[in-house]
Amino acid sequence: DKTVVLITGCSSGIGLGLAVRLASDTSKAFIVYATMRNLSKKERLLECVRGCHEDTMEILQMDVTDQLSIQAAKQRIKEKKVDILVCNAGAGLMGPVETQSYETMKQIFDVNLFGTICTIQAFLPEMKERKSGRIIVTGSVGGLQGIPFNDVYCASKFAVEGFCESLAILLQHFNIHISLIECGPVNTNFMTNLQRTDPEDPKLQHVDPETTQLYQKYLQHCERVFEEAAQDTEEIVQVFMDAIGAQFPSLRYYTNTTFLPLTKLKLSVEDGTQYIKAMNKFVFSTHKTGDF
Ligand code: NAD
Repeated sequence: DKTVVLITGCSSGIGLGLAVRLASDTSKAFIVYATMRNLSKKERLLECVRGCHEDTMEILQMDVTDQLSIQAAKQRIKEKKVDILVCNAGAGLMGPVETQSYETMKQIFDVNLFGTICTIQAFLPEMKERKSGRIIVTGSVGGLQGIPFNDVYCASKFAVEGFCESLAILLQHFNIHISLIECGPVNTNFMTNLQRTDPEDPKLQHVDPETTQLYQKYLQHCERVFEEAAQDTEEIVQVFMDAIGAQFPSLRYYTNTTFLPLTKLKLSVEDGTQYIKAMNKFVFSTHKTGDF
């Protein structure tokens, strides 16, 4: 009996990498439903699987912010079940909070939070009925700790953490495991796909000069962190494979140890002051990514 996997956001990045990995697994143990919002972007995925997917992968349209599209994709699953649901679709947003429009903020929450929740809602009843299933969510270091100029993105990813952690407790009773794969920076199109306030954006004229200056510093920091600590998609995919292979998957998997000291600091000094100080130093003073 093959393991049916449905993945969201497969036109690029982590979703694409995972779909390729599973569809071309030599065991042929997986049937992959690789879903994407826009089917006109399927060529890259098809190129990457290069013919070794005839009976292991099917591409379906699915926009996680569109209920009808989620239901339509669900109807097309021949096996009438999903063993592993991977909620991966997501979008970033960067810039001083004063420059973010209500529309854009809602859009980020729609994809990252409600998209994840609605996808899970669609597949959960059938998993509960079978008393079996795995849910894997692409999480982020930004879902565990605050990052300046990523306020809205972090808020949406923190919300995903709260949702998954809450659900995990109930799902124990149904033999369903939910796992978050907490990624640090990954070399995908995420940075080019994200909506970012450009340093030349006229909206910045309405922001105080100190914030604008700190934002410039942040952008440099971000570039440095990507250079020094970004992982390749393959490394991330391996962590997904570890979670998939685990008999008792954990709630959280960390792909990148670089950020663990900061994550721990936040948890060990509960009033938050140490984390805020350390992060301020990390982002706004010159450093090497490993030193803090
Ligand atoms: P990416 O931009 O290549 O992939 C995101 C995918 O989600 C894209 O294919 C995009 O089309 C899709 N998507 C966006 N809105 C959608 C919608 N409404 N319906 C369906 N699909 C939609 O970047 P990625 O790095 O592969 O991102 C995947 C996940 O990893 C995201 O959830 C992101 O938050 C998370 N993440 C990425 C990084 C990073 O540095 N790349 C770091 C931490 C977490």
